[in-house]
Amino acid sequence: MDAFDILRDKPQQADLDKCVHCGLCLNSCPTYRELGIEMDSPRGRIYQMNLVAAGAPITAGYREHLDLCLACRGCESACPSGVQYGRLIEDARAQIEATRPRSLPVRWLRRFVFGTLLPSRTLLRLAALQLAIYQRSGLQSLVRTLGLLRPLGLEKLDELSPSAEFPTFFSQYGKVFPAHGERRYKVALLGGCIANVSFARLNEATVRVLQANGCEVHVPSGQTCCGALALHAGVRGTARRLAAQNVQALSGAGFDALITNAAGCGSTLKEYDHLLGTAEARRFSSLVKDINEFLASIELAPPPTPVPLRVTYQDSCHLCHGQKIRSAPRKLLNAIPGLTFVEMPGSELCCGSAGIYNIVQNEMSMKLLDKKMAAIATTQAAAIATANPGCMIQLTAGARLNNTGQTVHHVVELLDRAYSTVRNSE
Ligand code: SF4
Ligand code: SF4
Repeated sequence: MDAFDILRDKPQQADLDKCVHCGLCLNSCPTYRELGIEMDSPRGRIYQMNLVAAGAPITAGYREHLDLCLACRGCESACPSGVQYGRLIEDARAQIEATRPRSLPVRWLRRFVFGTLLPSRTLLRLAALQLAIYQRSGLQSLVRTLGLLRPLGLEKLDELSPSAEFPTFFSQYGKVFPAHGERRYKVALLGGCIANVSFARLNEATVRVLQANGCEVHVPSGQTCCGALALHAGVRGTARRLAAQNVQALSGAGFDALITNAAGCGSTLKEYDHLLGTAEARRFSSLVKDINEFLASIELAPPPTPVPLRVTYQDSCHLCHGQKIRSAPRKLLNAIPGLTFVEMPGSELCCGSAGIYNIVQNEMSMKLLDKKMAAIATTQAAAIATANPGCMIQLTAGARLNNTGQTVHHVVELLDRAYSTVRNSE
């Protein structure tokens, strides 16, 4: 981080001043609802950011209250004064990161994970291979039965780790998938980072659904991780580097849209202009579309195959609060023949996933997941749909831990199933 970054990467006073301390956001904040502590509410966190902006030191207490924030942006949706809390928490975390005392090995590990591992296809493939051997050789079951990870504090990491899927989606990089029928759009698909190895089938389903809707789908090989995880962790230099690579790799090819199926990535990709502050980044961000948003905005090819499932929908925070997209996934679910859609109470409250929050703040995350599963139970749904791989992992863990037998799907996976006979007859 250079001197310019340190000056820039802190909550801006103009953003802080928008808060009039009315408290209308408190009930939308999962951590405040859980703890009832003002300093763990949006208003309390903004108050503390103001103190630091006025010259107060960054203390361990300040870091803890901000670390406990999910960055879910529920408060942003509730705020009548237009406070951009997502921007504030990211700026505050970058400021904390620049001053946080960390041991050399921890600094090195963070730099490696965000700057080297996540953007590397080779390293992610290797990690996926090791994970697959661990999960499928019976070793994971043995380790779980014997409780070997408990003393190391890695039990939760094991429970919440996604599965590795082969072939990974990296094998599709550089390919172009033709539109079915007349080409209506030329789009690029952003594969993500971990999603390429843990949600490879979801990425493939996304390509198929786009093809079924007249899209020529490009998977540009120059793309990389969107930088969302680095950004949320306050590692902003790395996030900027990744953003700049994506802007360079995907600009100028005449795409009608740059599509992502991960709400968390989409939210960050749409804010590259804030991150980079360039005209190219602004153009890039204006083309980014969440898959739900894109499909709901075009004339959807009617899906012919019934999917006889009772389904509820969990709003992914970065889709509903970050991108203000609420009706699109519901419109798509309601377009699937045979599917019965039922709303759950509090669908906009975070499920506790929040990137790596469920690992680093596991206790709070599990409390929120318990509440979410109780809300889902009132719907008597057999399946849970959502719009972000991270939420899928968390809700799958919720269904497993609560023995509900419910399946968890991305909206696009259900759509893909509804298009299956068209493909099979081609
Ligand atoms: S963030 Fe918005 S809703 Fe919350 S206290 Fe400030 S002005 Fe009120
Ligand atoms: S982002 Fe979420 S957890 Fe953080 S203050 Fe806002 S509502 Fe609360």
